[in-house]
Order: sequence, then C-alpha cells, then structure tokens
Amino acid sequence: MGYVFDFAEGNKDQRDLLGGKGANLAEMTNLGLPVPPGFTITTEACRAYLQEGGPEEAETDALASEVSDHLSALEERMGRRLGDAEDPLLVSVRSGAKFSMPGMMETVLNIGLNDESVSGLAKQSEDERFAQDSYRRLLQMFGATVLDIDSEHFSEALDAAKKAKGTENDLDLEADDLRSLVEDFKGIVQEYAGRPFPQDPREQLDLAVHAVFDSWNTDRARLYRRQERIPEDLGTAVNIQAMVFGNFGMDSGSGVAFTRDPASGSQGVYGDYLQNAQGEDVVAGIRNTVSLADFEKVDQGSYDDLMRIMTRLERHYRDMCDIEFTVERGKLWMLQTRVGKRTPEAAFRIAIHMVDEGLIDMDEAVLRVSGAQLAQLMFPRFDETADRNLIATGMNASPGAAVGKAVFDSDTAVAWTERGEDVILVRKETNPDDLRGMVAAKGILTSRGGKTSHAAVVARGMGRTCVCGAESLDVDAKRKEVRVRDGDTIQEGDVLSIDGTTGEVFAGEVPVSDSLVVRHFEGESVDDDLVAAVGRIMAHADGARRLRVRANSDTPDDSSRARRFGAQGIGLCRTEHMFLGDRRELVEKLIVAEDEESQTAALDELLPLQRQDFTEIFEAMDGLPVTIRLIDPPLHEFLPDLTDLSVKVALAEAEQADDGGGGSEELEHDRVLLQHVRRLHEQNPMLGLRGVRLGIQIPGLFEMQARAILEAAADYAAEGGRPLPEIMIPLVASVRELDVVKADILAVADQVQADRGVRVDFKVGTMIELPRAAFLADRIAASAEFFSFGTNDLTQMAWGFSRDDVEAAFFSRYFDHGIFDVSPFESLDQLGVGGMVEMGTTKGREARPDLKVGICGEHGGDPRSIHFFDAVGLDYVSCSPFRVPVARLEAGRSVLARR
Ligand code: PEP
Ligand code: MG
Repeated sequence: MGYVFDFAEGNKDQRDLLGGKGANLAEMTNLGLPVPPGFTITTEACRAYLQEGGPEEAETDALASEVSDHLSALEERMGRRLGDAEDPLLVSVRSGAKFSMPGMMETVLNIGLNDESVSGLAKQSEDERFAQDSYRRLLQMFGATVLDIDSEHFSEALDAAKKAKGTENDLDLEADDLRSLVEDFKGIVQEYAGRPFPQDPREQLDLAVHAVFDSWNTDRARLYRRQERIPEDLGTAVNIQAMVFGNFGMDSGSGVAFTRDPASGSQGVYGDYLQNAQGEDVVAGIRNTVSLADFEKVDQGSYDDLMRIMTRLERHYRDMCDIEFTVERGKLWMLQTRVGKRTPEAAFRIAIHMVDEGLIDMDEAVLRVSGAQLAQLMFPRFDETADRNLIATGMNASPGAAVGKAVFDSDTAVAWTERGEDVILVRKETNPDDLRGMVAAKGILTSRGGKTSHAAVVARGMGRTCVCGAESLDVDAKRKEVRVRDGDTIQEGDVLSIDGTTGEVFAGEVPVSDSLVVRHFEGESVDDDLVAAVGRIMAHADGARRLRVRANSDTPDDSSRARRFGAQGIGLCRTEHMFLGDRRELVEKLIVAEDEESQTAALDELLPLQRQDFTEIFEAMDGLPVTIRLIDPPLHEFLPDLTDLSVKVALAEAEQADDGGGGSEELEHDRVLLQHVRRLHEQNPMLGLRGVRLGIQIPGLFEMQARAILEAAADYAAEGGRPLPEIMIPLVASVRELDVVKADILAVADQVQADRGVRVDFKVGTMIELPRAAFLADRIAASAEFFSFGTNDLTQMAWGFSRDDVEAAFFSRYFDHGIFDVSPFESLDQLGVGGMVEMGTTKGREARPDLKVGICGEHGGDPRSIHFFDAVGLDYVSCSPFRVPVARLEAGRSVLARR
C-alpha cells in the first residue's frame, strides 16, 4: 500500500486513510461530478512524518517519489507542467483530517507560480491582473502558513496599496498595483522569514505539504481536538488538486452551500456566493456575499448545475451535505462536500424529514441524533445575539441558562426566593448544608470543584443550572462579594447570568428562551414540528431499547417528574438529604446521646418523618420499583465545621472570662458538640466511617430507616397502593458486612409484618462501589438480591482520585498529556472501572442467575457509558430525572448501532 492515491482510487468510506475531504473528493469524482483532478497524501504518511524522531529516510523518499509519479500523471492529464513558464499547472494544497476541524489547519492555493510562470499564466488567461492577483495570494498564504510570518504584515501592505489607490475594495487594484504588491510581499517574506520566496515549484509543493502535516500539532488544533474529543494520533491527509479560479473576473466566483438549513433543519438550500473571489475570501468576509437566490440571477447555468448536483449528493449520501464550489468563467466545479454539521434542532428535524421523504428509515433516524443533542434541546438557552458581558468561564457542570441576583448563603437564597426573586447561589464550593439554597436558586456558581463536586452532582440531579470551578472568581462569602479578575466586584443583589452549557458567567441579565421539548416531556401538548420530531424519535428508541431507565431522586416532586420523563423506577434514592434542615437537630441529638435510651429517643423522633418521606415517594412511583439507599455519608457532615465551632467556643469562653464566669446554656451545648465533632473528625472521611460501616457502628440508624421504609410500604399497600421497595446498602466490601445489617433489616421486617398485619414484598441489595466488592461479587451476590454499581465511588477508589478535588486540581495536565481525553468521573473509564463492572456483573450472576444489576453513578446519564452498560448486559441505568430522556434515547441507539 502506498502513501498517495488518485481521487479516482478512493471512496467516501475511506476517511481513516484519506481524511474526510479526500474521501469525499474521491466519491464525487467517481460519481462523475465536475471535480478538478488531483490526489491525496494519506493520514498514514502524516503519521510517519510526525512520528517521534522524525520520518525515516526511506519513508521520506517513498513519499517524494510517489508524489512525483502522481504529479506527472496529473500534468499529463491537464496538458500542463507545474510552474511551467509558458502555460503553468497550478495546484492547491489542502489539509483534510478524518474529522473536520474547521479553520484549524492549513491551505495553500496557487502553488506553482513564480516570477516566470506568472507571465505564462497572464498570457494563457489573457488577463495580467488575474495572474498578478493569484501570485500575491500565493505569497500571502505561503508566507503566513508555510513560513510562519504574521499575516498582519501582508494585510497591512494590502491595505496600504488600497489606500494609495484611494479605495477600500480589493477589486479596484489593477495589474500594476498588484505587480508592485507582489514585490512588497516578496520583501516581507525576505525580511521576516530570512529567506527568499522559493521559486522552485516542487519545493513550494513539498514545503506546503509539510506545513499541512505540521499544522496537525499547533496549539489551536490540539485544543480543538480536546474539546471535540478527536483522538490525537489520527494525523491529517493532504489533498493536492489542480486549481480552478474563482477570481477570473465577474463570471467567476466561489461559494459555500448546504442542502438544507443547518441551523433550523428546514428544507431548501442555503448558502453564500462571492463573485470574482477565491474560496478563502468567502469565509474571511472581505466583501459581502450574496445568497444563492441572487447567485441564480448572476449565473443561471451554474446555479442550475449546482442545484442538480446538490440534489444528487443528498440522495447519494442520504444526509444533509455541505458543499464548497467554484465557478470559473461560467463553469461550475465542486471542491468539497461532506455530511454537514448542524444544530441539535436541525438534527432532529432533518432526521424526521428524511424519513418522510423515504431517504432513511426510523432506525437510521434514531442513529442520526444523539443524547447530547437532546440534552441541549431540553435546557433554556441564552439568546446569543444579545449583548453579553463575560466575566469568567468555569466548568459546564449542569446545563441551562440561569439569571438571578447573586446571593452568598442559603438563608438569603431561600428568603429572597420566597419574596419572589430569582437568585444565583454563589459559593466557593457547596456542601450538604447549602441544599436549601440550591433548591431555591435558579442556578449555582462555585469557584472551586469539578464536574462531580457536590455542587455539580446535586445541581444535575435537580436539573439546576450550574457552573463550577470558575477559578478566576474570588468568592468572599463573609463580605458577600465576588472579586473579578479585572478588578470589578459583584455584590449581593447584583444580577448574574450563568450558562451551564458552556460554563460562561456574565455580569447582568442575558435574555433566555424556554424549552418546548421539556414542556412536551412534562405532558403539555405542544404544537411544534421540532417537538413532534423529538416525540417520534423517542418512541422509536423506546421500542428498540433493552436497557431500562430509572432515575436518581430523593423527593416526591423529582420522582413525579422522572416518571413523566419516562423513568421506570427509582434507581437511587439518597436518604442523607432527609437528615438536613430542621431535622439536623435530631441528628445532633443522636450523635451526642450518652446512652442507648437517648439514642433511641432521637431515632424515634426521626422515624415518622422518614416514613412520611418514603410514603410520598412510593405514591409518586406507584407500581414501580424504588431503590432506597440507607444513609451513606459520615455523620460529621451533619455537624458544624470543626474550625468554625472551635472559634465560636473559644470566643464565647473569652467573653465569659471577661464577664467574670457563669456559663451560658448555648456555650455548654457548643462545648459538648465540639467534643463530638472532634471525636468524629476524620483525616480522610471518604474512606472513613460511612456507608455500611455507619450502619454497623450505630445499628439503630439503619434499623430506623428500614422500619420507616417498610412501615410506609405496608401502610400504602394497605390503602391499595403498589409499593415496590428495594433497600440498598452502600459501600459494602465484604459479604459479612452485608449479612450483619441484612439480619437486622429482616428482623425489622418481621416486626413490621407482625405490627401491621400486612406483608410487603421487598428486596435487600447492595451497591458495588469498592473494588473489593467487584472482585468478590459472587460471594456478595449470595446475600444480595440486586446490585447497583456506584461508579462515582468505584472510579474514586479505582484510580485513587478524590472525587471532590482532582478535577479542578490537575486534570487539565492529564488532558494535555493525553492520559485521558475526558474525566473518568464524567464518562466511564471502560477499561479499568468498566472492567470491574463487567466482572462484578458476571460473577454476581454466576452466583445468582436472576440477580438484577443496575448502575446509579453519574455515568448512568452519560451517552458513551450507557452504550457500554448496554453491551455488558446490565438491566438498567439510573440517572438524574432530567437525563432520563437522554438515557432512553441512548439506550435505543446502543441497540440500533450494534444491529
Ligand atoms: C456512587 O458512588 O456512584 C453513588 C451513586 O453514590 P454517591 O454518589 O452518593 O456516593
Ligand atoms: Mg457512592
């Protein structure tokens, strides 16, 4: 296999080797469309060129000789030689990677012109002006992209030439003006590159090819790849093609076109045309382009050809295509086509239109859209055309657009919301204590923490917009202000707009628009063609999918919404939020209890409250399974901060000494509390007294929760309801741990049955969120009726990454080094953590064939991860209510993609 292929040798399915542009040029060539002839240097040649230590000599020679062969063939075919003084062949050199990276890499046109061949071109074209214009373009592009000269120098010289001529339009420059501009440009090359412009056409060509190869590794190309998750090691192909000229006069021009509107998805062509111009002029915006409708008036013949070809391409590709074309003296040439990028709404509309036009079937339509696009359609959005004052960019933790007054604590958030104001809760980072404020706020902004920080996880769970880790902001909660890098401050009450889809933070109000798609999922009847398209695609995905989709929810409201959004149960009801607010006092009583009696008293007070919580959720999820996880976080999370409390006590003690003794009741209470805060303080709480360990240490706590669940279920069943509780134990590493707490739960169940006279069906299962549990899943399955993979903790424990700290701390370095291209907290590390999920599932089912297996970590709502969970045979994924439709769609796409 060689490094170079003629366009006639390839096809559209060879994007790996020929790049997107090369593969599609080949396809169009073979369709018999008017494509200027040429050849493609493969991505493999690029990889060899870029390999560490540089290419081997044999490879360089092989590439050079293949290029020579293909160039000779091209010269023969065109009847001209590259750079010939009498009648020169000119070529373009364009990059083209597998995935399009618009504007990221290099293009050089008019290769082959030099001081002699420019006269040949003038003679052949009988147009001196055109020849000089083409030469100055080559000098400009070659200088900037191959010789790395700041393009400003060229634009300045061009501007000066226009000024001298007394015009602002480049078309007013005449042959003589351009000839002297060519001399200026050659001077710029000599001055800034320290070498003359190469007159040898073949040297021009080789240098341009190498510049395209090198452009794969520019900073902006790397950054773009990281954002778009394009692998680093693909390399780019290079296309060398006979030039056709859009700058031959007013009967020539260049344009871009889409076979449908890429913004809305509406049927009907869409595009821009510029007379007497080469391709880069169209995008560079140097003159105003005209619409395709006006193009029709300018050149009916070329327009008709273009329409015919666009229809043909769309039928052939069975998708919306985007096209670049050139008209040379009234003849249309196709320079590029590809399946066009589109907005989420266009993706859904186009997919359904194409089904209705008979171009694709519904399976294909579902594969043409993505969960990420659906998610975009579900969030209100900022109006991009509005004036916006960007003050910081953080992580796009939970999508959406939120506007409100800045507040710095939960109390203010709640109070202001109650009086009817929209607020944005601004914190350095959040903790469970901020929950009330988070619920009340329209959006949450933090200066610390990553995408699985508390703020991010909770905000996503609630469908609340969140930007986290905006590190350039200095949040000062005490002074109730944020200091912005440029010296401005945002005070409490100042309006902020935060975009959770992009991570942008704006000062002041940016207008937003509502999502019709969410109103549709909420059950409202919405008469809108986009909503209808989404509805049809969702119905088909639901019909195809094997995975069930549940929701992570711990309130009746969220549960009802999840159900409206299509959730088939609750996969994770975290109970810790039920111990906050007013109930914190009861938890405090439980912690400071000196004896069993006071402990029982505290638990007895909590019981009816918990029972009520569960009753409401069972009602919301009547007939569907509800997995309730017993309390997981360490108890000190419910107590005041050690430092804060120490300071408070010390200050009170000093004051008391000044007053001459006599302790207040509050001080006494705080002293006792401080003892317990110290007792419970842990250096590494994530590895401390939490989960099942807490249940074993304070048995009454899990028993109380189990009783609340089972009593609520018994009472609801007695009323004719259909509760399906599943009690889940967190952080189990050994089957013995599970057995200890399970025995207590079963004893409680017997008592409840005896008390209530009702038998409720329930299951006891466990989370698998420690590596040990995955390794010993067969043993654990002997006692567990179901597994739910807690991939947040499993990722934390497998990598040894603190989930609250690492993303903001050092992940950007990890991205730079390509250690991973996406955070393993966001998209499952399929090899490592995924390996444990697969092994745990297999081992678990060996021991208990009917074991129900799900996943309830954040990955349950991540498209890539969902495909993995489907492939390894899990029964369900569980994710936040707002992601339920996304998960349904991706579960369907997973099946269809494998078919
Ligand atoms: C998990 O660890 O994946 C999980 C779902 O539990 P939590 O996030 O509450 O630790
Ligand atoms: Mg966990």
